This record gives sequence, structure tokens and C-alpha cells, in this order.
Amino acid sequence: MNRISYYANRAAISAFQAGASIRTAALAAGISQGTAEKIRKYLVEVGDLPILCRCTQPLGHRGWCKYRLRQSPKRKAVLKQMHERQRNKSNDQSIPLR
Ligand SMILES: [Zn+2]
Repeated sequence: MNRISYYANRAAISAFQAGASIRTAALAAGISQGTAEKIRKYLVEVGDLPILCRCTQPLGHRGWCKYRLRQSPKRKAVLKQMHERQRNKSNDQSIPLR
């Protein structure tokens, strides 16, 4: 039987208790998502998990998560691009064309 180390287990548990997703906890602990899922299932059975997601919806909810969306690097890039475009637009209007 394969077993994960004590430290990987602790890392996964503390990540889950901080409100991390299965994917994030697996990355933080260096374990597979399947193993992280088992640890999370155990924590739910024991009742040792926060009840709410960081976006204030129930933990493990489906659909859009405002918190995760805010963390998304792709979304940040899109917003940055949008703001730059708007800034350039307003700059163009202030300089009269000849
Ligand atoms: Zn959420």
C-alpha cells in the first residue's frame, strides 16, 4: 500500500482548512488530485472544514466562483488590456488631430 508523507498530509489539510480547492491543495502538498480528494472527503466526514467558500457560497459549490475568478491570471490580463485601451482612447481625445 502506498502512503503519502506526514508533511504532505498536513500541507493538504491546512490548505483545505484555508479554503483551497482540490486542485490548489494538491499542488500545495505535491500530491495527486485523487489523493487530495480523498483527504477532503475525510475532512468533510469529520466536520473539520469551513462551511463557506471564500466567495461566501457553500463550499464545493458549482458554477462561477467570484473568488477564483478574481484570482484568474487570464482575467487579470484581459482587465489590464481593457484599462490600457480605455486610457489610450482618452489620451487620443485630449490631443487634437491635424
Ligand atoms: Zn466560491
